[in-house]
Amino acid sequence: MKGLIFDIKRFAVHDGPGIRVTVFLKGCPLHCTWCHNPEGICPDMVKVPKTVRMGDKTFTETETVGQLYETAELMEELKKEQIFMEESGGGVTFSGGEPLMQADFLLEMLKICKAAGMHTAVDTTGLASWKTLKEVAAFTDLFLYDLKIVDEAYHRKYTGVSNKLILENLKRLLAEGYQLRVRLPLIPDMTYTEQNMANTLKLLEELPKKPVGVDLLPFHSTAAHKYKRFHLVNELQSVKSMDKHSLKGLKERFELAGFKTTIGG
Ligand code: SF4
Repeated sequence: MKGLIFDIKRFAVHDGPGIRVTVFLKGCPLHCTWCHNPEGICPDMVKVPKTVRMGDKTFTETETVGQLYETAELMEELKKEQIFMEESGGGVTFSGGEPLMQADFLLEMLKICKAAGMHTAVDTTGLASWKTLKEVAAFTDLFLYDLKIVDEAYHRKYTGVSNKLILENLKRLLAEGYQLRVRLPLIPDMTYTEQNMANTLKLLEELPKKPVGVDLLPFHSTAAHKYKRFHLVNELQSVKSMDKHSLKGLKERFELAGFKTTIGG
């Protein structure tokens, strides 16, 4: 079975515990205004022009975004880093895009990783059928569950989809005892508003069980170069990266409500 992957990040330290390999699967059903991996949204392999400079000469090449991997082939890549995973209490994280868009491939990979003794994490928007999520959950040690906006109308406005199923799945995963960290991407005036922070806290307090942690993810503009490189419109071009120290007060607020909170994941 093959999966379409647009990046493999080695020595990742913000995508779950320890040192990890993060595998980015292509395709996402959301279209977040602030997407930090815009090249991962389209579910297909795409070719984009790339400008290469050599001395005073400029050439245009074609770059392919997305590479097909057989499960065994990807496992070979992961095994190269297994020693670091084991010694640091790390593992493998499947991210995207939305990894559940390639559910069959993801499930197969999770089974193989578990059989090899690797800790597995899935970074997800939670937008999938309960059946799919439940199958995946059986081989997932930790979900990194992205929560963007609680108000449904604003969620639609900034991500293009309803959050009903996302919130429903969040509650069900916790109610059934799966390990889960909630991740909050903080985008000025979009997700990071007083109203959304208050709504988020209320929602978290009303969950059937507490998540194992809450990660506050400050907006950073480092994805800007990707918008240029892939010829995409960057609506956040003029928005500056957030200083993580400015989130101290918010972190305390979540901690006072009883949530283990980190800034940056
Ligand atoms: S869910 Fe993540 S990958 Fe998908 S559009 Fe939003 S930011 Fe991009």
